[in-house]
Amino acid sequence: MRTGYDLELVHLTKRYGETVAVRDLNHVFSPGSYVCLLGPSGCGKSSTLRMIAGHESVSDGAILLDGADVSHLSPAQRGTAMMFQSYALFPHLSVRDNVAFSLRMKGVDKDKRHARADELLELVQMTALADRLPTQLSGGQQQRVALARALITQPKVLLLDEPLSALDPFLRIQMRAELKKLQRELGITFIHVTHGQDEALALADEVVVMNNAVIEQAGPPREVWGAPRTEFVARFMGGHNVISLDGGKVALRADDVRLGAAGLPATVTAVEYQGATVALQTRTEGGEEVLAILPEDQFFTAPKSPGDAVTLAWDEGRLHRLQA
Ligand code: ADP
Ligand code: MG
Repeated sequence: MRTGYDLELVHLTKRYGETVAVRDLNHVFSPGSYVCLLGPSGCGKSSTLRMIAGHESVSDGAILLDGADVSHLSPAQRGTAMMFQSYALFPHLSVRDNVAFSLRMKGVDKDKRHARADELLELVQMTALADRLPTQLSGGQQQRVALARALITQPKVLLLDEPLSALDPFLRIQMRAELKKLQRELGITFIHVTHGQDEALALADEVVVMNNAVIEQAGPPREVWGAPRTEFVARFMGGHNVISLDGGKVALRADDVRLGAAGLPATVTAVEYQGATVALQTRTEGGEEVLAILPEDQFFTAPKSPGDAVTLAWDEGRLHRLQA
């Protein structure tokens, strides 16, 4: 059995008047993968997703799904489905009728579409609440209904625009685990837009980092986090220092910085207890900010406070050169 379909972006561009929201994207998504499209607000994530879904026209380039150019097909003809940030459930329809809605539009008879809706509701564990109205559901429950509604069309690719942003932090972590599990069970590609690097690292098989309308770096989360190519990626992914050295810039993981006897003199400017680790913000004599993340047991053998002098050390081999 085949699981997953190829999705490819070819010179994909979106212009709104003078604004170039998406500039010449070229990317092949691995079939059946969980992809996170990550980047700051305004970098072009939603425009990219909406073009893939067919909710936004393509200015230039093409979107290929399973080898066919779908760029000019309507959303319903593409084999993609989109789950919106606001869930957009119909308030006057029951949970079951919300899920069955697109089948009703296609003229599928009531028994058949309800049976199919019930299968999807089982998948998202909402069987017991099938007769409720959306207003009688919590945020997490509404999200499950929205997922079931998107999946009933049996999409080849599911597109999710900031699907967790309306949830409180606790529920967000619970729901992201459920999204991941669902993607594995279904075996289709999920493209999940987020501006949260922790969310992307937790979920993705592939992280695609966007900045200023272009893809800045794409790869497995460990590669993107551990080997950022540019200063932007190093700073955006977090956990790295960007240091000027011999006219170039290097990245140094904050957890690779030690307090040593010999090294770079610095002054502690802030201390943050994080549980398993302690984050020590320092400033060197040259005025450079360097963050050290220390194991908490190590920190507490010789605790530091703001104003204390320290010496920063690291292994040269851990410096990672960045592209200009
Ligand atoms: P993101 O989802 O990463 O926050 P968007 O794709 O929504 O980014 O927006 C990218 C850029 O395109 C922004 O500069 C935004 O202001 C602009 N933009 C988005 N939608 C429209 C629109 N309908 N009309 C004009 N400009 C838009
Ligand atoms: Mg957006």
